[in-house]
Amino acid sequence: MIRLGLIGYPLEHSLSPKIHDAALKACGLGGDYSLFPIFLNNDQALRDLLVRVRSGEIRGLNVTIPHKQNIIQFLDELTPTAKAIGAVNTIFLRDEKLVGENTDAPGFSSDLKKFIGDRELENSKLALVLGAGGSARAVVYALINDGWDVTVAARRFEQAQELARLFENADAIEFNFRTFQHLNVQLIVNATPIGMFPNINQSPLPGEIKLSHDIFVYDLVYNPRETKLVGDAHTQGLNSITGLGMLIEQAALAFEIWTGCSPARDILLESINH
Ligand code: NAP
Repeated sequence: MIRLGLIGYPLEHSLSPKIHDAALKACGLGGDYSLFPIFLNNDQALRDLLVRVRSGEIRGLNVTIPHKQNIIQFLDELTPTAKAIGAVNTIFLRDEKLVGENTDAPGFSSDLKKFIGDRELENSKLALVLGAGGSARAVVYALINDGWDVTVAARRFEQAQELARLFENADAIEFNFRTFQHLNVQLIVNATPIGMFPNINQSPLPGEIKLSHDIFVYDLVYNPRETKLVGDAHTQGLNSITGLGMLIEQAALAFEIWTGCSPARDILLESINH
C-alpha cells in the first residue's frame, strides 16, 4: 500500500489526486493519494506529517502554495535543482533522510520541448517570463539550463531583479506592454495567475498587442483549458499552449521518484479530461 499526498492550502480544486490515482493504476500499484490542507503558519502540522514520511508510513508528498519555500527548513537535504530554485514540490525519503526535490522545472522543460518540437528558432533564444513568484523561479532555472537568455518582468520590479540576479543570463524589466513589444523574444511564458478561473476574461497581455508571428506563447495557467492569453495568441496565428502538459509531467516525475514507475502521460492526461 503506497501512501502519497499533497500539502498546501487551499486544495479542494487540486487535480493531483486524479492524476496520481491514475498513475497508481497504470503502474499496477495499490495505494492512495490524500489531500493534507495545512495553513501557512501551522508548522506543527507540517512536522507531524513529515514524521509519517520519515517512518515510512507515507511514501512521498507533493507540496504546493503556500508551503513550497517554508517547508525547506523541516527537510534534511535538497537536490541540486530544488536548492538552485529555492522551492520544493516533492518530498521523499532517501537513506533515512527527508529530501526535497523540484519537478516543476524539468516538468516545464520537457513540456516546452514537446511544444516547440524541432521548429527552428532564429539565432539567439530569448524568453520573456511574466511574473517572478515560485513557478517563475522554476521556469527561469529550466530555461537558463536549456540555453535560453531570459528577461523577467514583474509588477514589483525589485522582485524581478531579485530573481534575475540569481542567473548570469537573466535580466529584469518593468511589467510594461509597450516595452514587451520592442523585445526581440522567441518565447513568452506567463508565470502569473492572471487569466486563471474565475478571472477567465483577463490576460497578462492586451488582446490587441501585436506580437511577431514566430513567437511561442506558453501559459502556465491551465484552468480554463484555453486561457484568454492562449486564445488571443491563436487568433494572431501564434503557437500557444496552457500548462496542462507541465502539470502532468511534474506529477509523473514525482511519481517516478516515489515508486520507480514512469506512468504513460496520455493515461494521466485522460484522468483529468473527464
Ligand atoms: P506566486 O508565487 O504567487 O507568483 C505569482 C507572480 O505573479 C508574482 O510575481 C505576482 O506578483 C505576479 N502577479 C500576480 N497577480 C498579478 C497581476 N494581476 N499583475 C501582474 N503580476 C501579478 O504563484 P506561482 O506559484 O508562481 O503560480 C503562478 C501561476 O502558475 C498560477 O496560476 C499557478 O496555478 C500556475 N502554475 C502552474 C503550474 C503547472 O504545472 N502548469 C505549476 C505551478 C504554477 P506579486 O508578488 O506582486 O503578487
